[in-house]
Amino acid sequence: AKKHGGDRIEVFRPAMRSDQPDRLALEADLRRAIERDEIKVLYQPIVRLEDRTIAGFEALVRWDHPRLGRMSPRDFIPVAEDSGLIVDLGLSVLDKTTRQLVTWQRLVESDPPIFASVNVSSRQLLRHDLIHDLKGVLSRSAVAPGSLKLEITESLVMENPEYAAQMLIQVRDLGAGLSMDDFGTGYSSLAYLQRFPFDTIKIDQSFVRQNGSGARPVILRSIIAMAHDLGMDVVAEGAETDADAAELFALGCEYAQGYAFGEPMTAEEARRLIAGPVRL
Ligand code: C2E
Ligand code: CA
Ligand code: CA
Ligand code: CA
Repeated sequence: AKKHGGDRIEVFRPAMRSDQPDRLALEADLRRAIERDEIKVLYQPIVRLEDRTIAGFEALVRWDHPRLGRMSPRDFIPVAEDSGLIVDLGLSVLDKTTRQLVTWQRLVESDPPIFASVNVSSRQLLRHDLIHDLKGVLSRSAVAPGSLKLEITESLVMENPEYAAQMLIQVRDLGAGLSMDDFGTGYSSLAYLQRFPFDTIKIDQSFVRQNGSGARPVILRSIIAMAHDLGMDVVAEGAETDADAAELFALGCEYAQGYAFGEPMTAEEARRLIAGPVRL
């Protein structure tokens, strides 16, 4: 069994091997879907716990496969990464998201403005000119760099920490935000925090969701205190109930994301949410 994404253990099934026909067929389907622009982006609100207003949205991809139905990004992002398709896919997510961000920011003038957070695979970071793409996306949309955040999670960053650090410093120098995703899971480590210029920690949902463990508040409080001592903001993922949100706020966490506030939604739904009463 191989640990994946922190919140579940994934058994290494033979069908997942890159030399298997299923995998190759899936890759071909994915390539076609990207070419035809059939990959959708949904947006999940990230809420300021203090007043329950919308601080920003995380972009999450969806693919409705013609035969297999809606596929989880957990199943097709690895295919995109292994095949290199993640570069085109990632750029298209950045483009779509910044375009939405412009329309959201026009709807409400908040200070700070609504932000968008985009997942970036380490393969995009390590094997492609992400900085060039980012500059292009920012200039095409005319979005303020500070309103765009990148979420970085993968272990591969640690494969080449020096290069990754250089890239992330360039991202920061562009003015974009950097969130360390899935904090507390196997792949993340305290070493990251020293080496890389993250401004935000996203606590993995496995620490947040009600699990009846007495250790949970202790762990959450420690992560939050450490983040604050390092000058970072904290977003808690997987806040599913009002009780989760209240507890996180009491523990000093400033932002939360989860079903308590909204599932990933279409750009149009996000627009209506922003335009309507903003307290969640
Ligand atoms: P992630 O970045 O950790 O995203 C959070 C996941 O938790 C999302 O799953 C979201 O739908 C889910 N979630 C949100 N709130 C709750 C909650 O209250 N309870 C529970 N149980 N789950 C919640 P999703 O959308 O299936 O995405 C899975 C993963 O796929 C993401 O995990 C991310 O690692 C990856 N991913 C998604 N979009 C992209 C993308 O554009 N690029 C890359 N490289 N990876 C992506
Ligand atoms: Ca996760
Ligand atoms: Ca994420
Ligand atoms: Ca996460």
